Amino acid sequence: MNLLYKSTRNADRTVTASEAILKGLAEDGGLFMPTALPKLDVTLSELKGMSYQETAYAVMKQFLTDFTEEELKKCIDRAYDQKFDTEVIAPLVKVGDTYHLELFHGATIAFKDMALSILPHLLTTAAKKNDVKNDIVILTATSGDTGKAALAGFADVPGTKIIVFYPKNGVSKVQELQMVTQKGENTSVVAIHGNFDHAQTGVKELFEDKELGKELADAGYQFSSANSINIGRLVPQVVYYVYAYAKLLENEEIAEGEEINVVVPTGNFGNILAAYFAKNMGVPIAKLVCASNENKVLFDFFETGKYDRNREFVLTSSPSMDILISSNLERLIYLIAGADAEKNAQLMAALKSDGSYEITPEMKAKLADFVGGYATEAETAEVIADTYKKTGYVMDTHTAVAAYVAKKYREDSKDEKKVLVASTASPYKFARSVMTAIDGKYDAMDEFALIDELEKISGTKIPNAIEEIRNANILHTRECDVDQMKATVKAILKGEE
Ligand SMILES: *Cc1c(COP(=O)(O)O)cnc(C)c1O
Repeated sequence: MNLLYKSTRNADRTVTASEAILKGLAEDGGLFMPTALPKLDVTLSELKGMSYQETAYAVMKQFLTDFTEEELKKCIDRAYDQKFDTEVIAPLVKVGDTYHLELFHGATIAFKDMALSILPHLLTTAAKKNDVKNDIVILTATSGDTGKAALAGFADVPGTKIIVFYPKNGVSKVQELQMVTQKGENTSVVAIHGNFDHAQTGVKELFEDKELGKELADAGYQFSSANSINIGRLVPQVVYYVYAYAKLLENEEIAEGEEINVVVPTGNFGNILAAYFAKNMGVPIAKLVCASNENKVLFDFFETGKYDRNREFVLTSSPSMDILISSNLERLIYLIAGADAEKNAQLMAALKSDGSYEITPEMKAKLADFVGGYATEAETAEVIADTYKKTGYVMDTHTAVAAYVAKKYREDSKDEKKVLVASTASPYKFARSVMTAIDGKYDAMDEFALIDELEKISGTKIPNAIEEIRNANILHTRECDVDQMKATVKAILKGEE
């Protein structure tokens, strides 16, 4: 059976999976969604002994039905290899009474590697299948982690160029260094004078700019996206939830069919939406707990049914979640509107014009699987310090937001189901925030001294991704104002300095 995709804002046209991946965003500004959410065609007990790569195939073939078995397996094998520092790809670690699914063992030590190590292969395969002759220009807005993971994935991939926009003062030191030292003839990195929402909105506008699209086509280019608005990002993220459940079963931590709760530190709503897809595929997940930092627009949405981005943007110690416009929520809105593209388009138009929208009580009733929670800066630091003191385990700030929300949810709800926390980044990536949460005495040390201390106290080896940037040359120094993004893209594609 061939699964087709539709825009969340237009019901008229369908595209194949490979076309959806190539386009990234639909022409009407909507996001691509499968016309039906697929189910697994293997049982959970059959999944038990499978490797990450085998699980990836079992999951992804249900979504990407126009890829042949050979094509998809090749993409999977090229993605999940020695770039990861562990054969299991995504280890499950028991910390206190929760299970941490460590998604940060890839090349750039954040969970974005889980999808971005395969996206370039999916995209170049899709280009071949669809006889695309243009070079593909990947335009990406990043809150810190997507940028580097996409750069690493696309560097020197023939037939592609990649341009990354990041908020100048909105990322950690390590995140910035990782990006500005990126090698590869086809890579460009631009610091914008604004926040992540500015970057993301700017990139979406470039996608929708018909005049620019034409100019690009004439020069032999076409845009695609490495952001989680691309369905080619979302699908590979479903894999690790299926894999984690199978590992819990295999390790006899749960009984077959036993429901678990999943807690996800959330920004753009991609990771948690992937967990929702996994639930729909047949994984026994009860609650999907959406954990926010002080930018708690999603918490308020789940409480009230009103999405309202009219509020102050807060810079926190979990910068990859400093987001007020969660793009992937649109996919959920579309689903709870009954796959009604027109209704969804109205709400998204209200978001654009007024910065807010409100869903109907019938729609809100369909959100019963979701729970919102948030952690303040102090609560985030407290959970890092507490966990370290009790268990010796050091977690990063994003994961800590989820760990705090997990604990709070269990206390408040008395829901005793086992909890899986998506652990989204290595603590090394946010060494300053992590170390000062553990002890104020670290305040005075510089970033790399802190990294050395972290190695000592955590007993985990400094990842390659960190060693690489210690002495690397800065290769990207371009900056621009928010309203200069279009001109900047044109200049880059013309090869101007
Ligand atoms: C991107 C990111 C998040 C947020 O994930 P979304 O899919 O955008 O919700 C959380 N933690 C880290 C470390 C990230 O890089």
